[in-house]
Amino acid sequence: MLLTITTTHQPATDLGYLLYKHPAKIQEFDLAFGKAHIFYPEATENRTTVALLLDIDPIGLVRGKGNFSLGQYVNDRPYAASSFLSVAIAKVFRTALNGICKDRPELVDTPLPLTAKISVLPSRGGERLLHNLFEPLGYKMTTERHPLDPKFPQWGDSRYYTVTLEHTVTLSDLLAHLYVLIPVLDDEKHYYVGDAEVEKLLRHGEGWLNTHPEKEIITRRYLKYRRSLQRQALERLVDNIPDDETADAEEEQIEKPMNLHQQRLITVLSALKLSGVETIVDLGCGEGKLLKLLLKEKQFSQILGMDVSIRSLEIASDKINRLPERARQHISLIHGSLMYRDDRLTGFDAAAVIEVIEHLDPPRLSAFERVVFEFARPKTVIITTPNAEYNVKWESLPAGQFRHSDHRFEWTRAEFEAWANGICERFGYTVLFEPIGEVDPQVGAPSQLGVFQVKGA
Ligand code: SAH
Repeated sequence: MLLTITTTHQPATDLGYLLYKHPAKIQEFDLAFGKAHIFYPEATENRTTVALLLDIDPIGLVRGKGNFSLGQYVNDRPYAASSFLSVAIAKVFRTALNGICKDRPELVDTPLPLTAKISVLPSRGGERLLHNLFEPLGYKMTTERHPLDPKFPQWGDSRYYTVTLEHTVTLSDLLAHLYVLIPVLDDEKHYYVGDAEVEKLLRHGEGWLNTHPEKEIITRRYLKYRRSLQRQALERLVDNIPDDETADAEEEQIEKPMNLHQQRLITVLSALKLSGVETIVDLGCGEGKLLKLLLKEKQFSQILGMDVSIRSLEIASDKINRLPERARQHISLIHGSLMYRDDRLTGFDAAAVIEVIEHLDPPRLSAFERVVFEFARPKTVIITTPNAEYNVKWESLPAGQFRHSDHRFEWTRAEFEAWANGICERFGYTVLFEPIGEVDPQVGAPSQLGVFQVKGA
């Protein structure tokens, strides 16, 4: 398994300083699963390439593992880039990965023209996944797919590629991207995946993973499908988005002329009052704006707020703590995610999901639907979401853009209604729609609301 990194930064031999590896030397490192060799196939002022060659010991890998199985000996581990390569990167390029360089500190944060070439990179998920993982990070990518056996072209292609990635990027970012994404592509991990891996993923994913469109796949595969770990990682990633509040402010600014959010909350409140419910869970309660309104109403005896963002929950909790004890005794806040079935959400008369669904990745909506309509299953569910048709009316919103940088989609009225009707069919609910805000004859109202009632309740 071979990784080369080339730079044309001038003088290109600076790469040696950044990696703490002298271009004139060939070095060898012992790793638990074999040896890593570092050498420079070329090292001139104009162009320097470092190579990391991993020599895996397939026999050593299985030694002491007991039962013999042919698969343990005859497999792709010696030559395919895998989590072994990540371990090697972390070991032999540790300082560079961590962005440390005593001799050339100014180079650490300097984006350099870099080309990484990985020979024999497996991609479970095909070429599309390769592109989806690297291109959002700015890499220009070329791939060459290897046939299963060049002597038998009729056998077709293998899942192995030689991949070249080009970008002007800091060396530590490039190494972090490779460190995380190679095991994701390989999708097999040779060591125990525990809490420490969440830390590694978050550390090396810092600054790019929380905005990566494939962060779900990346965390799922990196953590080897350990759902609880993935959940931890995703929740912390969401929390790490530093501009939560700025983003809220951004949305409010666009919608300001009507103070739409206030109207939305009042509409939701009156729908809840009308439906006669007493216990309510506010899913994705954010900073607790609806919670505060609910607390003022005697009708509601028990209120629960749930959100994935700790930061928002802290703000909500500060608001609630300022209220008199009498009001506070009816309410609690919990940290959780709408992506996962959660017993704490059962037993409520109603659920409010206000301006939340558009923050969920479309492929994950079906998980959300089951969490709310199948497992929590309150008699009444109120969902609001922007009406995309109305966006043409916001003067400050450029055409084609969403109202909020974290929105994954914005639906037209027909799209929202089709989705809601599908839910009713699948889970046994009925739904009524209401516009929120001033209704324009052509494009409708700025926001839309669906009130779902369980059938036969
Ligand atoms: N309902 C609030 C906040 C809307 S903003 C209001 O109307 O004021 C969207 C909220 O959804 C954010 O607080 C965000 O943290 C939360 N959210 C996003 N994804 C979530 C998930 N998977 N589970 C729970 N909450 C989520």
